[in-house]
Amino acid sequence: MEGEETKAFPMKGGDGPYSYAKNSHYQKTFVDAVKAMIDEAIADKLDIKHFSTTSSPFRIADFGCSVGPNSLNSMKNIVEAIEIKYHSEGLSLKIPEFQLFFNDHSSNDFNTLFASFPPDRPYFIAGVPGSFHGRLFPKASLHFVHSSYSLNWLSKVPKEVFDKNSSAWNKGKIHYPTSKIEVVEAYSTQFVRDMESFLLARAQELVFGGLMTLIIPGLADGFPISKSFTTMLDLVVGSCLMDMTKMGLVSEDKVDSFNFPIYNPYLQEMEKLIARNKSFSIVRLEVVDRGQGNASTPSVEAATMGLRAVTEEIIKEHFGSEIIDELFDRVSKKMKEFPHLLDISKNATQIFVVLKREDYDP
Ligand code: SAH
Repeated sequence: MEGEETKAFPMKGGDGPYSYAKNSHYQKTFVDAVKAMIDEAIADKLDIKHFSTTSSPFRIADFGCSVGPNSLNSMKNIVEAIEIKYHSEGLSLKIPEFQLFFNDHSSNDFNTLFASFPPDRPYFIAGVPGSFHGRLFPKASLHFVHSSYSLNWLSKVPKEVFDKNSSAWNKGKIHYPTSKIEVVEAYSTQFVRDMESFLLARAQELVFGGLMTLIIPGLADGFPISKSFTTMLDLVVGSCLMDMTKMGLVSEDKVDSFNFPIYNPYLQEMEKLIARNKSFSIVRLEVVDRGQGNASTPSVEAATMGLRAVTEEIIKEHFGSEIIDELFDRVSKKMKEFPHLLDISKNATQIFVVLKREDYDP
């Protein structure tokens, strides 16, 4: 992933053995873990009387839906929780029709996603291609926004990371967790910029009183990033690529011009950047760990498959498809050297956010 330009690297499409559809259990455990929290936010904070009637649909959008079952499951859960809310407020006869929008980059495998929707579904659906860092919907047209595991993808790798003359040059590495502070800061700045664009666009699209729920892989303040699961990209994938340069299978220049456009924010970073956007109030903002999910430590094989489903496309684009099988063979062997990183009960946390659109025009 090189240079300035915004690029799209969707998850591995289709439903083959390496697909995201077949390898997104890791993400699913968290989606399940926060279900109760989303239900609670809808029950307590969604002001259904304020904006919804039986004559217009209730519109929900998922940003960065990919192809797996996670997106549809989350959307179904949200619809059910809203229906329960209508019943509990004595408004059973006023339950609106639901329209669900599934957003991702246009190169996402929407065909596989659409084929996975049940034919007899009690809601209307539509795909919305394009980057969520810009506007995708008309003003005040959405009532509920959701996004999970997507906002950690940056719109681009900050350019100084590739610049030999910059103090943030990330020589010999392909991600930031074990890099010098300048590299970490360049990534953090890019993340803040991207999140601000996302929030600005959603502020225009969400009706006053509308809710937004976000799940972003992120860390509790003070937790060392070098001990987090994300470090796997650097310590395992990165070091396998470096081994391959030593064997002449990949050029060193190729490795130096590649960095993952992924960032895992700290809680405080999230809080600060959200607070700057006056269109939203924070209903809930917290770190959710594995203890609240119920996932067991993945096997080396499952972790390799999960990593491959998420990173294969971007690696292929830069290094070519010839290296993929060999690289992931090496990855699965190398992973055995870092058993502590696989202990995801401790080192893989998520930031869960609920925001409410306030009656404020920027
Ligand atoms: N929400 C799903 C999928 C997460 S995978 C789940 O929880 O399992 C992350 C997805 O975000 C990918 O499909 C990727 O293409 C998408 N994505 C990343 N950046 C994006 C952007 N700027 N605009 C739209 N989609 C984006």
